[in-house]
Amino acid sequence: MSEDETLFERIIAGEIPADVVYQDDTTFAFRDIRPQARVHVLVVPRKRYRNVAELAAADPRLLGDVVATARKVAELEGILESGYRLVFNTDRDAGQTVFHVHAHVLGGEPLGLFGA
Ligand code: AMP
Repeated sequence: MSEDETLFERIIAGEIPADVVYQDDTTFAFRDIRPQARVHVLVVPRKRYRNVAELAAADPRLLGDVVATARKVAELEGILESGYRLVFNTDRDAGQTVFHVHAHVLGGEPLGLFGA
């Protein structure tokens, strides 16, 4: 198992420092170390799945928890009204680098179109 594969598990375990925004029984949210927007928070399930496709197939309820935590993060960050973007990079062509499924919560400023 590469370091990338265990990075988020080590953050959840408190072995690597992170700026934790929210946590509950099933999910964990912390600021991205290289923010791409004024608000950039990662939401991960405590239980590891490789990507959102695996998570959706294996445990759709837990995927719902991740999306609900993203909403909670938006509320805590004060961007629920202005809006936010949820991104799940999934495998090679999407540029996924950490293979513990995570939702990027992006907002706090106009984000423009992406994929253009
Ligand atoms: P992805 O490309 O979707 O796999 O996103 C991985 C994200 O993890 C990137 O946006 C990185 O900036 C972020 N990241 C990598 N290491 C850390 C870390 N130690 N703490 C917080 N975020 C990290």
